Amino acid sequence: AKAEGKNTLRFYLPAMNDNLRESVLLETDLRKALEREEFYLVYQPQISAITGQVVGVEALLRWNHGKKGLIPPSDFIPLAEETGVIVPIGDWVIRTACAQSSQWQKQGLPPFRVAVNLSGRQFLNKGLVPFVKRTLLETGMDPSNLELEITESMTLDIERSFSTLRELKQLGISISIDDFGTGYSSLSYLKSFPVDCLKIDQSFVRELLSETNDRSIVSTIINLAHSLNLRVVAEGVESKEQLAYLASFGCDEIQGYYVSKPIAEKDIPCFLKRSS
Ligand code: C2E
Ligand code: CA
Ligand code: CA
Ligand code: CA
Repeated sequence: AKAEGKNTLRFYLPAMNDNLRESVLLETDLRKALEREEFYLVYQPQISAITGQVVGVEALLRWNHGKKGLIPPSDFIPLAEETGVIVPIGDWVIRTACAQSSQWQKQGLPPFRVAVNLSGRQFLNKGLVPFVKRTLLETGMDPSNLELEITESMTLDIERSFSTLRELKQLGISISIDDFGTGYSSLSYLKSFPVDCLKIDQSFVRELLSETNDRSIVSTIINLAHSLNLRVVAEGVESKEQLAYLASFGCDEIQGYYVSKPIAEKDIPCFLKRSS
């Protein structure tokens, strides 16, 4: 058994070293990506389920790696979180999205929300609230156009997240709970938390047509949200049949490939004009 264990070890170590080396390399690149200006944002439109008008966009981060090309967020955000690099990267995302929103308003576009994803590390960082405050001032963004997306798992430390959320709300921005229904937190936080919106996770939307259970969950989330005076956005809407179900359940807003994939900032004005 001992000999076997040794063999396993011998096979296992080199493989682990490869992964380790790979992630150390990626981490080094991740730290340099900001100064190399390899990040950019794309924006996915959100429309009213009733009027079809664009009511907001979600800013989504993209990394164009010098050698490897485009790396999806699912491949580098977890690493950025583990290593803490997500904090400066996240600050860059907030600043860039706010500057862009201000720019769109200066171009004379009608006001619309810009939603930005927060990571847990960022949300727990003491510098977040002063940073957001300063960024709003420096970019001239209208705070009522800014929405920050957090996930249920970030609210586990109830007292701490409650006071952070309240301070953020005092700046005049809004807060949404992302991937709602997939976390482990109890629902009771909803009755006291200063949030404005629930985003129904795309895993519930995907099989809306075939799964009666998913239909029950989605309509229940929508009713729950409305009875708490919260807005509801459904994510990952890919077909008009899904949209029809969501609209019949009273869902307020829709986001997904059926409306649009995430697009470049320069294409947003044109998209807005087409939808109005
Ligand atoms: P998320 O916040 O839940 O964002 C929605 C994801 O679903 C995006 O993937 C979007 O492109 C994708 N999506 C939108 N519509 C559809 C659809 O109809 N069908 C399908 N199958 N997918 C759709 P993306 O851009 O790859 O981002 C993945 C995740 O990475 C995001 O999930 C978010 O958790 C994270 N992320 C992205 N940008 C940032 C950021 O700036 N900061 C942080 N902390 N996380 C980010
Ligand atoms: Ca999100
Ligand atoms: Ca989501
Ligand atoms: Ca997600």
